[in-house]
Amino acid sequence: MSLRALTISNFTEKSMTTSHYDVIILGSGAGGGTLAHKLAPTGKKILILERGGYVPREKDNWNPRAVNLDGKYQTKEKWHDKDGNELHPHTNYYVGGNTKFFGAALFRLRKEDFGEIRHHGGISPAWPISYDDMEPYYTEAERLYQVHGNRGEDPTEPPARSCYPHPAVSHEPRIQQLSDDFASLGLQPFHTPLGVMLDEKNSHISKCIRCGTCDGFPCLVSAKSDAQVCAVDPALQHSNVTLMTGAYVERLKTDASGRTVNRIIANHNGVREELSADFVVASCGAINSAALLLRSANDKHPRGLANSSDTVGRHYMGHVNSVLMALSKCPNPTIFQKSLSLNDFYFGAAGWAYPMGHISFVGKLDGETLKSGAPALTPNWTLDLMAKHSLDFWLTSEDLPDPNNRVTVDAEGGIVLSYKPNNEEGHKRLIAKLKELIQQQTKCKVHGHECHEGLFSRNLFVGQRIPLAGVAHQVGTVRFGNDAKSSALDENCKAHDLDNLYVVDGSFFVSSGAVNPALTIMANALRVGQHLIERMK
Ligand SMILES: Cc1cc2nc3c(=O)[nH]c(=O)nc-3n(C[C@H](O)[C@H](O)[C@H](O)COP(=O)(O)OP(=O)(O)OC[C@H]3O[C@@H](n4cnc5c(N)ncnc54)[C@H](O)[C@@H]3O)c2cc1C
Ligand code: SF4
Repeated sequence: MSLRALTISNFTEKSMTTSHYDVIILGSGAGGGTLAHKLAPTGKKILILERGGYVPREKDNWNPRAVNLDGKYQTKEKWHDKDGNELHPHTNYYVGGNTKFFGAALFRLRKEDFGEIRHHGGISPAWPISYDDMEPYYTEAERLYQVHGNRGEDPTEPPARSCYPHPAVSHEPRIQQLSDDFASLGLQPFHTPLGVMLDEKNSHISKCIRCGTCDGFPCLVSAKSDAQVCAVDPALQHSNVTLMTGAYVERLKTDASGRTVNRIIANHNGVREELSADFVVASCGAINSAALLLRSANDKHPRGLANSSDTVGRHYMGHVNSVLMALSKCPNPTIFQKSLSLNDFYFGAAGWAYPMGHISFVGKLDGETLKSGAPALTPNWTLDLMAKHSLDFWLTSEDLPDPNNRVTVDAEGGIVLSYKPNNEEGHKRLIAKLKELIQQQTKCKVHGHECHEGLFSRNLFVGQRIPLAGVAHQVGTVRFGNDAKSSALDENCKAHDLDNLYVVDGSFFVSSGAVNPALTIMANALRVGQHLIERMK
């Protein structure tokens, strides 16, 4: 269904009567799915409204051409940038949200990320809660999402009350070699905390088969710790929880006072549904939740629902990200590449007092996938050869919350995303650091020759910054805070302006940190869930 069809009230006459629930959760991804899991045992009547359906289980799930080149599972929705150019967002509308496709790197933010941090490009502001407030929920989220890791290896790791619930995913030989090289240079490489259900000691019963099509792909064997598998499916085992798929939430209406959401208007496969609940929780993802609130403007909320502060849609962040391919003479036969990370430069480096960011890996790139970013005439064999010889790094640095980086909606309710990159100097220095480190690698223990004399020269790097359409790490558009003048949500993620509206996706972030956001979204949903349980007693 096109966006136009979804956002304009062209419902059939078969309009349904209103049904009332204790809680209605809008969206079933990292935030919404996790919240549903937390609330399910309460016995309260809970409805999840999800615009997508289930990801179909089929061979194409693991087909790089279908997934990366044809974008088979991505939304076909069109957004616009601030200049009116079309954007084809790399985002996914399914039960489980974007976690169906995520790389399952499940990091806690650093303790310091909750406070104010001075960056080269400006200030990363403090959150209204501390790391200690979030810690119990990080632990709960790591258990729910079966995180595999080694506590104590990461030099910037925040304090944690318990070990990871599962042992770290081991490195394949080429990655172990790189880890050893980094260690010999005095760095502290560590095993990436990962949500894959891999049992290396008992591979005959391991759900995860350690394949090469994980990051960016749905898991054909349901062994990735995504929100559908770990949260929504178990929640639906409770008879008090219902999931309605194909249910696009168009707008929220309030009572005459403007303090209570009393109607949810959804387009359920073309049929208008009017629903109501004691508590309404938006978790449509940071961009779609902001758009929903803006679309729901009314007399009491002329700038958009929950937007007396004029912050809804503003402060959009998505990280400064790069994929860098380090090419070398030595092939990289690694299948599952995402096991290694480096945080030594997270807060800076000798001679640079500002944060730089996080170094890790994307899934092993292949020739098919490279085609999606290559000039049309590049011969396939070149791309295949490049992919066979590359180490494929993922670099993340923090972008800062700029009120002019924002989501707005056009006259038809369509999404407009305005974004000017900021705080890029630390990221540039992180790239330079990685280049320096790669050039210092030792003779290859795996292949027995000098790896890094380079394919074409000593080293060749093909650098590509992630374009605006890459909205994977979207956060910050409905920020939480103690001051109703500068934030839309209070510290429990309840709208300052309303009594029964909450937001639990990535929208609430005050700053983006420089690690992947999903575990923080999950942990926060558990925290807000605990608050809702208390409120519903
Ligand atoms: C390729 C890829 C790789 C990634 N890798 C990682 C990683 O390794 N580690 C990590 O931490 N993060 C990763 N991420 C990011 C991570 O997936 C997101 O941070 C996380 O899923 C966001 O959670 P959310 O609840 O905010 O939104 P989502 O998970 O996107 O969920 C939002 C849900 O709301 C639904 N929805 C939207 N609008 C409406 C509406 N109007 N009505 C009803 N339903 C609606 C959507 O269909 C979706 O199901 C990755 C993302 C991608 C795309
Ligand atoms: S089998 Fe394992 S590595 Fe492959 S997609 Fe599933 S979780 Fe990822």
